[in-house]
Amino acid sequence: MGQGWRRWVRYGYGLVLALAAGGLIVAAGDWAERRELGVQGLALRQAAEATTLGLQGMVARHNHLPYVVARHPDVLALLRDPARPGLAGHLNRYLADLQTTTGAVALFVVDRAGVALAASNAALPGSFVGQDYRRRPYVEDALAGRRGVFYGLGLTTGIPGLFIAEPVRAGAQIVGVVVVKIGLDSLEAAWARSPAPAVLQDARGIVFLSSVPGWRYQSERPLEAEDLDWLARHSQYGERRRFALLPWRTAPVALGAGPGGFVLRTPLDGRERAFLALATPIPELGWRLVVSSDLGAVREARREAQAMAALLAALVLLGVLYWRLREKRYAEQQQARDELERRVEERTRDLQEAHAFRKAMEDSLLVGMRARDPEGKIIYVNPALCEMVGYTQDELLGLKPPYPYWHPEDFDKHMRESDDALQGRARPHGFESRIRHRDGHDVITMVYTAPLIDARGAHRGWMSSVVDITAQKQAEARQREQERQLQRSARLASVGEMASTLAHELNQPLMAISNFAVAARAMAGMPGGPAVEMLASALDEIVEQSARASEIVKRVRAFINPKRRVYEEIAPESLVSHAVGLLQGELQRHGIALQIVLAPGLPRVRGDHVLLEQVLVNLIQNAIQAMQATPATPATQRGLEIRALQLESGVEIRVADRGPGIAEAVREQLFSPFFSTKSDGLGLGLSICRSILEAHGGRISVANRAAGGAEFICLLPASSPALTPALNEEIPKL
Ligand code: ADP
Repeated sequence: MGQGWRRWVRYGYGLVLALAAGGLIVAAGDWAERRELGVQGLALRQAAEATTLGLQGMVARHNHLPYVVARHPDVLALLRDPARPGLAGHLNRYLADLQTTTGAVALFVVDRAGVALAASNAALPGSFVGQDYRRRPYVEDALAGRRGVFYGLGLTTGIPGLFIAEPVRAGAQIVGVVVVKIGLDSLEAAWARSPAPAVLQDARGIVFLSSVPGWRYQSERPLEAEDLDWLARHSQYGERRRFALLPWRTAPVALGAGPGGFVLRTPLDGRERAFLALATPIPELGWRLVVSSDLGAVREARREAQAMAALLAALVLLGVLYWRLREKRYAEQQQARDELERRVEERTRDLQEAHAFRKAMEDSLLVGMRARDPEGKIIYVNPALCEMVGYTQDELLGLKPPYPYWHPEDFDKHMRESDDALQGRARPHGFESRIRHRDGHDVITMVYTAPLIDARGAHRGWMSSVVDITAQKQAEARQREQERQLQRSARLASVGEMASTLAHELNQPLMAISNFAVAARAMAGMPGGPAVEMLASALDEIVEQSARASEIVKRVRAFINPKRRVYEEIAPESLVSHAVGLLQGELQRHGIALQIVLAPGLPRVRGDHVLLEQVLVNLIQNAIQAMQATPATPATQRGLEIRALQLESGVEIRVADRGPGIAEAVREQLFSPFFSTKSDGLGLGLSICRSILEAHGGRISVANRAAGGAEFICLLPASSPALTPALNEEIPKL
């Protein structure tokens, strides 16, 4: 999960928490408000009930009064005969007495015409007697046979009161009405002390009793013309024709269980006030009672609850934050612990592996390792070193020089080298050291010493690696001995070879010279004097053969000394013809037919023509000898074939005979010096041929012919390059 995403999740959590806190605050406020409304509602209902009960009680207390009075015989008598002397006065006193006793405001009796005949206040100024009450609704009701109940202003006094009227019956006939007026002053007085408004409204909504004096005779709603007319006619509120609207703004509110709750807003005492109000109808009186209490308590409760909820939310939030912080820190610590543990584990494993690897490496090392402290005490040796010297690790550890494996003959040298090494003067490329194995044999080692520096860079001593070079030394000694022997035999062979070469090469011209000299001697002794021409010819031959011998000596010397070599471009045809020319007499003497086949356009070869001719001379001589030694071959079949052809790599000259061929057993040794099957053979001819050809960059091989006989094949590169140095290296050692 990305950082950004996590941040959004955190914001989401924050938002949810904030919303939850807000919700909690609002809900707590609502709850407290509802609860407070319930409490207030209950209090208001109780207050309203008490007031209603008080009113009802008051009415009930006076209710029977008109009834009883209406049945008083004097009342009936007066109504029947108003002029009866003394009766009115008597009744007046009676009524006055009743009024005082019952606490009513007034009691009076009206006749069928609505005129008061007697009254409790007859003796007082403003007496009701003689007043016309015909228009009063309660009189109307009573005259109609109903009990009349009415609240209104007194017609005479203008003082408000509750009027209860009872018809006075004479049999089935209604002859008059008895009226009791009750004052509500006590209620009004009680309300005057109330901090919250309380009002009584009539059926039309007109306030007739109020704790707020200004509201009296104000209406809750505009009055219909009809109502106004009725009010005027019955003078319910005196001569009042206008009823201002109450300065109320109301909004219904649930006040616990039960209807009638509302919030009342109104300007009061010069400021805008709000109250919690409850309207309770009093059906038997046709009124409506409104009691109220200050809304402040509800608001206060709401605010308190909200404050509490906010506090709680803050606490919870703090708690959550603290918890989260703790969790986070704990998780971080846990993570750090885990990480540490993991690293320790990893490190331990690495160390174990490294240790195991190092141990395996040290154990498998063939090189001996030895560590010494600055005083020369051995602090470490590996198995290879133990094996090299024949002592165990335990025996070596802790030892100081001289060490038991030092060679007794080299003791001083060991001491010197040890001191040098311990003083940091060890030779960087190591030194050879002979040591004595515990079992007595010598071990030659190479010792390399370097400073031992620990991880903190401190010099802790010296580390030496010891390589056993005994085998190598022995091999070197063997090699040297072999080389010595080889050089000796090579020198011997070369000396022999060269001496034999000279002998071999010179043999032929010397033989010729000898032959010609013998012939000349014979001619000189011939009867009749020597044949001068023949003699001269023989002497010419001698001169020529001598020249050839000298030439051979010169060439061989040149061959030995490369500086004297003379190379030239030679046509292969001339090589063949010269060689054949030299042996022409031989061939004829042995009756050998010669066949020469030269391919046209042969390229030239580069080299020494005398030496190369000598190769062909040798091969032809060998062929002659081979055919001579084969009695099985009839003379007619003795034939020599010389062919020269061009190959891609140069020029090939083949010399083929009809002799016995080469036996498989001797084929390998044929070209070795001194190998010969002939009783007088030197065994050098073919060896010389090979040396000369190889010196010219060519080679020689041999094959048996299908029809019998041997065929020697010489390959010369076209325009032979300079002689290879193969022979040159041998020569200076001669
Ligand atoms: P040599 O002629 O003095 O013996 P070579 O080196 O010339 O020395 O020859 C070595 C040997 O090779 C000879 O002794 C002979 O046995 C064998 N050989 C050489 N040429 C021929 C040939 N043309 N046919 C059969 N054998 C041959």
